[in-house]
Amino acid sequence: MLEINHISKKYVKGKETYTALDNVSLKIESGDFIAVVGPSGSGKSTLLHTVGGLIRPDSGQVLFRGKSVYKMDSHEVNKYRRKNVGFVFQQFHLIPYLTVYENIKLTEIELENENGSIEATLEKCALLPLKNKYPSELSVGEKQRTAFVRAIISNPEILLADEPTGNLDPGNSQILMSLIKEFRENGGTVLLVSHEAETTNYANRIVTLRAGKLL
Ligand code: ADP
Ligand code: ADP
Repeated sequence: MLEINHISKKYVKGKETYTALDNVSLKIESGDFIAVVGPSGSGKSTLLHTVGGLIRPDSGQVLFRGKSVYKMDSHEVNKYRRKNVGFVFQQFHLIPYLTVYENIKLTEIELENENGSIEATLEKCALLPLKNKYPSELSVGEKQRTAFVRAIISNPEILLADEPTGNLDPGNSQILMSLIKEFRENGGTVLLVSHEAETTNYANRIVTLRAGKLL
């Protein structure tokens, strides 16, 4: 479904150059749960952002169903970012002045989901009673579940998760991982990066990044 072909990415800051990805290739089949592990600074976030259409690699290609993401026109790549992939981040990235419901509605917009599907998904994630609360009123577990619902509300084919349990206690981590597992059991594909060993328990494949190289 997704093919990452020989991608490299360097960041230049002043006189310093940081190699984030060095000739990385990875094939992701539909239904895969791939965990990418590696120390901090090994390129994990850059890899996810590249796959998600957010960072253009210096060289190499990301192919989604055979189509090169970085050769799509702006309309197509926007559709890819909003419809084909869903993102969950360690820092949640909820919009503080929007409620739980509004944060989710924002990404669901224009996708013609039938009315009520947001409520149904909130219910499944034990968030329905909180739908009118603001992020500042939520516990960390609730914030991350909200971010998860936002990521999957448009039925993406692939969920990209960047250290999604990094700020969660063990109980909330387990709840989130069960939701991710359920997403996959319903036909979804997962690419998760983490340095926490327990999140990889659910993966059918574990790959390691070290200094931008995939081992
Ligand atoms: P990880 O997610 O594994 O911690 P990253 O992809 O965030 O790794 O970073 C990989 C390398 O690229 C690191 O050396 C990091 O310092 C560098 N890097 C990441 N983002 C930037 C940036 N915006 N500017 C400069 N260097 C960056
Ligand atoms: P956790 O230990 O998981 O971080 P919290 O103590 O933050 O949990 O939150 C416990 C409960 O209190 C949650 O249901 C949350 O919605 C509610 N809550 C937390 N902070 C606020 C707040 N500022 N205003 C209203 N409700 C809040």
